Amino acid sequence: MTTYLIRNAQILGGAPQDIHIVDGVFAAIGENLDARADIDIDAHGLVALPGLVDLHTHLREPGREDAETVLTGTRAAAMGGYTAVHAMANTFPVADSAGVVEQVWRLGRESGYCDVQPVGAVTVGLEGKQLAELGAMHDSAAGVRVFSDDGKCVDDAVIMRRALEYVKAFDGVIAQHAQEPRLTAGAQMNEGLVSGELGLGGWPAVAEESIIARDVLLAAHVGSRVHICHLSTAGSVEIVRWAKAKGWDVTAEVTPHHLLLTDELVRSYDPVYKVNPPLRTAADVEALREALADGTIDAVATDHAPHPAEDKDCEWAVAAMGMVGLETALSVVQQTMVDTGLLNWEGVADRMSHRPARIGRLAGHGRPVSVGEPANLVLFDPAYRGVVNPDTFATRSRNSPYRGMDLPGRVHATFLRGEATVLAGELVER
Ligand SMILES: [Zn+2]
Repeated sequence: MTTYLIRNAQILGGAPQDIHIVDGVFAAIGENLDARADIDIDAHGLVALPGLVDLHTHLREPGREDAETVLTGTRAAAMGGYTAVHAMANTFPVADSAGVVEQVWRLGRESGYCDVQPVGAVTVGLEGKQLAELGAMHDSAAGVRVFSDDGKCVDDAVIMRRALEYVKAFDGVIAQHAQEPRLTAGAQMNEGLVSGELGLGGWPAVAEESIIARDVLLAAHVGSRVHICHLSTAGSVEIVRWAKAKGWDVTAEVTPHHLLLTDELVRSYDPVYKVNPPLRTAADVEALREALADGTIDAVATDHAPHPAEDKDCEWAVAAMGMVGLETALSVVQQTMVDTGLLNWEGVADRMSHRPARIGRLAGHGRPVSVGEPANLVLFDPAYRGVVNPDTFATRSRNSPYRGMDLPGRVHATFLRGEATVLAGELVER
């Protein structure tokens, strides 16, 4: 294996240190290391973080390879500093059986750019009627522990209760896409001032909050673990805060776009801003940032949702929902959380690596940057300033809401178990 000597990296933003990577692990860390390596990297001014872990990625394969494949998605992940991603189950066919999750898991291993941990569907075909083969997916080579019907809500309380009970046997977790379907029928954007002015169907905050309230109560009742996907409202934060204060096993994530963008952008009618859950108000954004800072929200998860141009270059009403996000996540977190003083780099490592790995029970990821640990690492340049150009992205799709925006920071290098997947800001061909 290639050996690396990284000079003067600021681990978690601390004082500059050298990092020696040999045989896939951190062999030595210290000042002025007396070591030799195949490749020397000058990391002056770069922050070193443990490889990022995404709890919520849509890789689209199998079935929508026109939007993304496991290979292009994992290349995008590496460019964003990720070493592990959880691949959501809403593919074609749906990842609701051992066969499909094993297929996705194998494609991930073959890609070599990033570990892919498949998420299994909670119900057969994401239809919300009948529990999928959760045990078989867990027992498969993919070792599934996170289950979600993401894109759809498990809205039947009895099915949700059974799923929560079932996954207790193997320390699994149900990741809920909290959206009460009847309250959001025909909804096009956040319900509020802007939707009223534009005359678009509103998506009320209570549609998210009522499901979260129900599910934290259900999880507590059966003594199981629930994870709430993409929190988007101030009220959702309050419910999760309350559930945690009760000592219940509840975790939550927020997307980068919900930390930065608001429903004011919908005035443009540009479908690039159409997303599920919808962009909310500035007050919601503020509450989400504070909750991520104080740990009420455990993790940043991208909800990377690639779509081909024809599904986005159309009228608002018929456009697909979702945004790509893997390659901009760390920059958005720097802008919204670090540059604002809400979170230091240690906090970023906690919310984007340690905690998501713990929620997904991913061994080998989310580990500290210390001697003997697997060398999953990202070197990030927080001083970089540039304009986002999605045409240069590694993802197959271009539906980024940040096109033309100034965002701080850039991934300089990413290492997966000691092998560079990105060097000097470029993908390493494997
Ligand atoms: Zn979702």
